Amino acid sequence: MITKRKVQIVPPEEFSQLKLTSPKKKAVGIPALISSMQHISREMGLWRGIKLLNKMNQKDGFDCPGCAWPDPDGKRSKLGEYCENGVKAIAEEATISKVGREFFAEYSVEELSTKSDYWLGKSGRITEPFYLAEGSSHYQPISWEEAFEKMATKLKSLNDPNEAIFYTSGRTSNEAAYLYQLFVRQFGTNNLPDCSNMCHESSGVGLSETVGIGKGSVTLEDLYVSELIVVMGQNPGTNHPRMLAALEKCKENGGKIISVNPIPEAGNNVFVDPQNPLAMIKGGTQLDDHYLQVKINGDVALLKAIMILMLEAEEKNPGTVFDLDFIANQTAGIDALLADLKAADFNEAVAASGVSEKEIRTVSKLFIEKKKIIICWAMGLTQHENGVQNIQEVVNILLLKGSIGIEGGGTCPVRGHSNVQGDRTMNIWEKPKDGYIDKIDAHFKMKFPREHGYDAVESIKACHENKVKFYFFMGGNFISATPDSQFTGEAIQNCDMTVQVSTKLNRSHIVTGNEALILPCISRSELDIQASGKQFVTIENSMGVVQKSYGSLDNASPNLKSEPAIVATLAKAVFGNSPIDWEKMRDNYDNVRDAIEATIDGFHDYNKRVRVPGGFYLPNCTRDRKFNTANGKANFTINPIPQNNVAEGHLILMTIRTHDQYNTTIYGMDDRYRGILNERRVILMNKSDMDAQGLKNEEVVHIKSHFRGEERIANNFKVIAYNIAKGCAATYFPEANVLVPVDSTAKKSNTPVSKFIEISLFK
Ligand code: SF4
Repeated sequence: MITKRKVQIVPPEEFSQLKLTSPKKKAVGIPALISSMQHISREMGLWRGIKLLNKMNQKDGFDCPGCAWPDPDGKRSKLGEYCENGVKAIAEEATISKVGREFFAEYSVEELSTKSDYWLGKSGRITEPFYLAEGSSHYQPISWEEAFEKMATKLKSLNDPNEAIFYTSGRTSNEAAYLYQLFVRQFGTNNLPDCSNMCHESSGVGLSETVGIGKGSVTLEDLYVSELIVVMGQNPGTNHPRMLAALEKCKENGGKIISVNPIPEAGNNVFVDPQNPLAMIKGGTQLDDHYLQVKINGDVALLKAIMILMLEAEEKNPGTVFDLDFIANQTAGIDALLADLKAADFNEAVAASGVSEKEIRTVSKLFIEKKKIIICWAMGLTQHENGVQNIQEVVNILLLKGSIGIEGGGTCPVRGHSNVQGDRTMNIWEKPKDGYIDKIDAHFKMKFPREHGYDAVESIKACHENKVKFYFFMGGNFISATPDSQFTGEAIQNCDMTVQVSTKLNRSHIVTGNEALILPCISRSELDIQASGKQFVTIENSMGVVQKSYGSLDNASPNLKSEPAIVATLAKAVFGNSPIDWEKMRDNYDNVRDAIEATIDGFHDYNKRVRVPGGFYLPNCTRDRKFNTANGKANFTINPIPQNNVAEGHLILMTIRTHDQYNTTIYGMDDRYRGILNERRVILMNKSDMDAQGLKNEEVVHIKSHFRGEERIANNFKVIAYNIAKGCAATYFPEANVLVPVDSTAKKSNTPVSKFIEISLFK
């Protein structure tokens, strides 16, 4: 019987020194410049940093490893085509701090597990491969050859390929992702969960069912000329900061903006563009014309109330509100939707939304008058049990207006990871379409598996049930990104071997299988030299633009490998000689792109077109109003108002990021825009809810979540009175992920419900 290591799975529940300031009304400006320069000079040296930033998001440079916000098609700012959080992302991976043999000799995994995620991440770049032997407490250096041999031996020893799982984080390039899925499928499984399962899977399912593609329809230029942009369940000021420049352009062109969120965010309010001195002198640009403080999961109710008022106006003047021609010729399901709206109780919808009737009537006028409407969203819509329906209600309102596939109108799910959309396009998916498998069968003259594999949540359960022997993580920080941290950690510890491809240290290197390997890879901004010379990789952003990314920085250590090289070398070690020439793929990524061109639609002349500065747009049926659905139409759907009932005295909790955080990477301890400094164990509450529970500001509480009779506890949070919708609360992840039940997932998409957790507080 193998003894599990006694490591702490959840981050330490300890406080640091909380300092509160008033929440900011304005985003970016000089404070962002100062913060950026502080991160750069602290991590990598100011001059080295500035030289590198001049390359970021430039057409001959590298793509920011942060979010997936697009770069301008035309001229890119020479002053800097990046944001504060892009700077933090690059400073983190280009840091001069190193994690090497001395580090792992000093710290056992048990000791490291008592450290915060911030401390772990700040330890630096991992310099060579490390191995944690069964029953041992310290990582030991290992050669790449030995590491590949250990993995190959383990993989070849499995009774069934489905005893292995291969996870992908959204930073993985197209070339690495394509090789990875090909290797996994040649190995014989579709166990390809990815970070999209936990974020925009609800968008993919909701959009595919209604308009025939799981991606947004708009381009960046559409935002500039839109008449009305609605930002729902998204905090662009922190998570997609360059979006603020696009919103500013929309305002300059006379567009209107509505933001919908349980918390008012500085980034939706005023944008102080450091590259626009005139706007800076004027104190910045007011972005949202209306802020609607919706209750958590009150979005369907809000959109339904607005559609009821749109219908009223349409019935008074037919054809002046709805695009009747588009509806008649290119959609299906309108009668059912109109019947649903007529049957719906307007007052019930208003009450369920949490927004006042007066505000709803005011903003409805914009939906009635405007034609070019874009709705942008992120996790605030997708991480709900009804996440798919939230997206489909968004589609309903756009279809009524015919505001899809037109200039300035359409859907805009904003991806949080630089290549998460590209990875899915490369068929990193546990549910591959038969059409794709047909193509790789034919191209590689092999038989690839068709049986669907595990998504992220299913993979956790399979591990917990001891069905998994080998779990390979291409980037990311699975332990901290997933729900139900204690359950997930114990599940991962059931695996015989876990392998983590990473640039930096994180909690997933601490909570491992019996044996564990760390494979340090080249980062996005670093030079990637293979046998045929310097290589570039390609990335797809939220608007479906594929462009090249050329790293230029010297590698953090001479003992790193690129992700494509790791996959190809592992394949060689597992398969030996195979119909797929893995070395040829590794030695020159043009060969990978040729295979992509041959097996994935939209990549014709790939190597030629991607060398054109700025890259190219992938086909997008909704952009061309050719809906790739079963009936060839855009489909209206009926989405009931969710019953967000919780027990008396309980609250609805949502997990959020700070401004010093990117997914599970903690850049710093401040949440500057919200005025919460140097503390992550806080819970934001509405003052009236605090009074009702007799709680004072900064009082210490413990949080208990309630789900189908199950309870989960997270200790030590300081209560902060905050402008959040009544009955709602917010706290940061990954600290709060221990409260999210593994079985609490969105219907159809199985996305963890991290935005709707029923909680109570105790002392
Ligand atoms: S907006 Fe996103 S992609 Fe652009 S620089 Fe910032 S983090 Fe990077």
